[in-house]
Amino acid sequence: MAANTTTEWIDPITCPFCGDELASPGAGFVDHIHENADCEDGFDHWRENIAGDLAGEWSG
Ligand SMILES: [Zn+2]
Repeated sequence: MAANTTTEWIDPITCPFCGDELASPGAGFVDHIHENADCEDGFDHWRENIAGDLAGEWSG
């Protein structure tokens, strides 16, 4: 079993929104989106989509 949980991150050390390389996976990405409003906006939408999908599946 893969340890994949909620994301389908293709490359965790690259920002999926602007393609920039991150200092580190995870924490580096959090720092990155705090410094890049466009990426933070994209991340918010991405997260809402994930939440919406889960809510849709779980509510029925
Ligand atoms: Zn970015």
